[in-house]
Amino acid sequence: MRPFRFQRANDAAEAVSEAAHMPLSTELAQTEAATQFLAGGTTLLDLMKLDVMHPDRLIDINGLSARHAEIRASASGLRLGGLARMSDVAGQAAVRRDYPVIAQSLEMAASPQLRNMATLSGNVLQRTRCPYFRDVTWKACNKRNPGSGCAAMDGVNRRHAVLGVSDRCIAAYPGDFAQALIALDATVEILGPAGAITLPFAELHREPGTTPHIETRLAPGALITAFTVPAGPWTRRSLYLKIRDRESYEFALASAAVALDLQQGIVKTVRIALGGVATRPWRAHEAEDLLIGHAIDRARAYEAARAAFASAQPREGNRFKIELGRRTLVRALMQAAAMET
Ligand code: SF4
Repeated sequence: MRPFRFQRANDAAEAVSEAAHMPLSTELAQTEAATQFLAGGTTLLDLMKLDVMHPDRLIDINGLSARHAEIRASASGLRLGGLARMSDVAGQAAVRRDYPVIAQSLEMAASPQLRNMATLSGNVLQRTRCPYFRDVTWKACNKRNPGSGCAAMDGVNRRHAVLGVSDRCIAAYPGDFAQALIALDATVEILGPAGAITLPFAELHREPGTTPHIETRLAPGALITAFTVPAGPWTRRSLYLKIRDRESYEFALASAAVALDLQQGIVKTVRIALGGVATRPWRAHEAEDLLIGHAIDRARAYEAARAAFASAQPREGNRFKIELGRRTLVRALMQAAAMET
């Protein structure tokens, strides 16, 4: 690991102001900024040891937890502090009962030790597991080294994305919790050098396009302070289904977050997000449109799943993900429709 400077912040505005003292550029990705915030550290320290990330300075923001780790459920919805630990949120009775997709997405991620350390804001910002990105002996990686090429295109790409890909990068977004936030139309609160803003969470992550090294709309020095999930009749009938090579401590090959509002067996509202198959947390609006106004049976669910993957662009090693992703979504929809609420 390379040398770096370390300091602590006890106030969010102070942390952002400190980070803003470094030269900023709107073209610079937050993930590559010279100053990085350190909370759980479960992604950042790994990548620093691998020499994939090499910030000059870390600002430890764990001192902000008293104000920014709150978990609050009310009649209007759920507010989750950005520094809340994954395991704390997953264990909350109100979250488990009223927002099961959130609890499940958090519980199916990583290991218990990691969930005890990792924060929600760090979790949604975790970097891809593409092996060429994480191994600096590979020179061709547009995400790590813009303009260098993409070793995964014709390399080992079994775990890579089929949706939202570009000719520069096909890395899959690795998280789970983000899919729950997408399915529940969450918003994200951000404190940046220019002040506080609130964004639809669906607008936080970017597709790779021609700039795969810029993964989000976060400016360098900006901090995620909270997530807000609006209440709705669909939150209780929600679930997260994750398909992976082994049943624990593994990333998704395909996953689906589903939230349903059924009235007399007919879909009034449905929200679907897909994971493991796309370059960013992926909302499947085309599938939703085919379900609204209908009862969910296997044939209708499969038709929706086909629509969800209509724009898929597989490579040699990950072609199987299209059918796997469809079947994952069908199973998630059937299970959600059968839930007791
Ligand atoms: Fe790099 Fe993306 Fe290609 Fe992986 S898929 S080697 S992260 S450019």
